[in-house]
Amino acid sequence: MIVLGIETSCDETGVALYDGARGLRAESLHSQIALHAAYGGVVPELASRDHIRLLVPLIERTLNEAQADLADLDAIAYTAGPGLAGALLVGASVASALARSQHLPAYPVHHLEGHLLSPFLASDPPSFPFVALLVSGGHSQFMAVEGLGRYRLLGETVDDAVGEAFDKTAQLLGLPYPGGPALSQLARQGDPERFHLPRPLLQSGDLQLSFSGLKTAVAQRVRRQSPADYPDIAAAFEAAVVDVLTHKTRLALRMTGYTQLVVAGGVGANQPLRQALRAQLEPAGIRVTFPPAHLCTDNGAMIAYAGYCHLQNPALWTRYRDSLSPGFTIHPRWDLAAYATHL
Ligand code: ATP
Ligand code: MG
Ligand code: FE
Repeated sequence: MIVLGIETSCDETGVALYDGARGLRAESLHSQIALHAAYGGVVPELASRDHIRLLVPLIERTLNEAQADLADLDAIAYTAGPGLAGALLVGASVASALARSQHLPAYPVHHLEGHLLSPFLASDPPSFPFVALLVSGGHSQFMAVEGLGRYRLLGETVDDAVGEAFDKTAQLLGLPYPGGPALSQLARQGDPERFHLPRPLLQSGDLQLSFSGLKTAVAQRVRRQSPADYPDIAAAFEAAVVDVLTHKTRLALRMTGYTQLVVAGGVGANQPLRQALRAQLEPAGIRVTFPPAHLCTDNGAMIAYAGYCHLQNPALWTRYRDSLSPGFTIHPRWDLAAYATHL
């Protein structure tokens, strides 16, 4: 089965072709970072317009690269949510129009499920069941993943997402948007021991996370120090985040009894987090897997792959093939656990 995947939930236009027999055959990605940088965050209207401008050319480029054409496709998978409504509508409408013209099913994918399954595109894929640490720009959660579509929320942030905390903290330190990678780079030159920042909810005994207090502590620190101290502040911030996430991840593994961890979402690209998780968990016999580095942030490959996995289910395949996408829905807010019960 060959599935074209389309991702437009936020500020990345992503397209990819996943082939059950040959794996990922082609992928194209356009990031809108430069477009939004001047505003310090994503401007929804500009995001939609840019998706409109580039989605069809990216689909053409992906098909060319895979040396395939529309007639070779078996299905089109698109991100139906969660995300920015206007941005989601671009991907959903192009996917549906294309699918209808080719008499193909259009399959709606949950964006976070895409992130969650992206480690299966690595050369050392995980196996079910596992604990997923999902850390992105909009989400920070622990999930117990028992199988495809069987996701149980174990705990999540009560305020900011980790990626959001990285981005806001980076802004306080005068770094460009999105701040995660820039902050991490600055932290490399800093001393993580010089300033001690709080570890919110570290000892709460559950899997809730909180990052807004940490960001406030950074703001107070920044007011008292000079820019020469920023590398030390960045290092202290990153150390606090890594401390909290590794501590709670160990708790999640103890609570479930699972022996595998999957880290997904943009913050999963963070090197100190990767190293700390590996160093703490592998000696205890826990297998830790990450997506390929370029698939940590948003992309079309994870959407094509998630759609492919679901459409392997014969009942689901028949349902989508026979309905031939008479309409489409988007879900700007969409709970992953609730979505799974509707499969
Ligand atoms: P969601 O998937 O929750 O809708 P999103 O799609 O915006 O949110 P992703 O694309 O998965 O999120 O990740 C983007 C986030 O990852 C940004 O907040 C960015 O700063 C952060 N990020 C990317 N690379 C790194 C890194 N090396 N260290 C820390 N944070 C990083
Ligand atoms: Mg993004
Ligand atoms: Fe994402």
